[in-house]
Amino acid sequence: MDNKAANRLQDLQYFGEFGGINPSISDSSTYTFLSAKTMFDTFEGNTEGCYLYSRHSSPSNLYLGEALAALEGTETANVYASGMGAISSVIMQLCNADDHIVSSRTIYGGSYALLKNFIKKFGIHTSFVDITSIAEVEQAINPRTKMIYCESVSNPLLEVADIKALAHLAKKHGIPLVVDNTFSPLSIAPAKLGADIVIHSLTKFINGTSDCVAGAVCGTTDFCLSLKDVNNGAGMLMGSTLDSLRAASILKNIRTLHIRMQKHSGNALYLAEKFENEGFRVVYPGLASHQGHEVMKKQMNADYGFGGLLTLDVGSLENANALMELMQIEKIGYLAVSLGFYKTLFSAPGTSTSSEIPLEEQMEMGLSNGLIRFSIGLDNDIERTFKMIVECMRQLEIKPLSVTT
Ligand code: PLP
Repeated sequence: MDNKAANRLQDLQYFGEFGGINPSISDSSTYTFLSAKTMFDTFEGNTEGCYLYSRHSSPSNLYLGEALAALEGTETANVYASGMGAISSVIMQLCNADDHIVSSRTIYGGSYALLKNFIKKFGIHTSFVDITSIAEVEQAINPRTKMIYCESVSNPLLEVADIKALAHLAKKHGIPLVVDNTFSPLSIAPAKLGADIVIHSLTKFINGTSDCVAGAVCGTTDFCLSLKDVNNGAGMLMGSTLDSLRAASILKNIRTLHIRMQKHSGNALYLAEKFENEGFRVVYPGLASHQGHEVMKKQMNADYGFGGLLTLDVGSLENANALMELMQIEKIGYLAVSLGFYKTLFSAPGTSTSSEIPLEEQMEMGLSNGLIRFSIGLDNDIERTFKMIVECMRQLEIKPLSVTT
């Protein structure tokens, strides 16, 4: 458990060019050198503190990278133009043709499609496993396996990965554990639990204002530098680098992450408990009824709660769609994908963010078509929000499903 991440973030202090309280934004794609020799040395990676070209790095990206390394307790971090840009860079950096990945089967639909379909083009194959079964994960590892990949709290089923146990297994087999921590910044610190590489979609809680896409890879200095290598770096050569203007705006937003996470989590726990008491089939890692509750308690930082995501099964896609439309009319939130916004966002993952997963596989993993994923907002009066949702359900005659059906 890491209680110091918010303090480390708070202590990161940068001054602008004229003594400003925010660092100056690097508004350049390229940088001058006083000598041709220094330019050559910089290309060769032999010059500390010199900037070359903003696809390689920029001062604004380095500031944000330092903040993310402070958040995750890693040596350093690189920032990318999206979460998928970060994920694909890590995969392409670690895998060659004919290599193999063991991945949790419940991950964000885009990551699933990347692993299942897209990287097959390059001869990289993935075995999808139940990440909560360490035995099943171990069985899937073969001599060509180059990483174990999972989400600390999975999208959309909210399965909780036992990161310590997975890190132990990865070490035993000499492969890295790569964890996407998008759903649980501050709550879970995967690197502190033994993960080798931590990925974020900054698009979500970390930025928190749903105004851009961005991503990050947090890890060792060696690995992050390898991603930037001018000859062999996946980040540098595939070009998914974040723009400096965005890096600067995300750095400002990350300053309030600790307060936002507490509010998101507090509001989500309140709603989850209320829904459960009413007999609704609700999934939230903060409920004792959740399969991963004990694992989450063991590895989380209690100050930031169990996260802002919960799912509610309302029985059918028709019910889910009608409820989401009505909740939007009633200003409870927006019928939109993504998460981590100040306003509640809801979507039916089976027909949206997880639609890349074939129907039979959705059923197998328990992704029912009446499932609504909620990213709970920063509502000031969550009791009022609960009453409003219940009123929407009453109008649509949506009744609690028996928990056992
Ligand atoms: N990881 C998780 C857990 C996500 O939910 C998402 C997007 O929804 C991503 C990665 C991809 O991030 P981005 O949309 O920033 O590329």
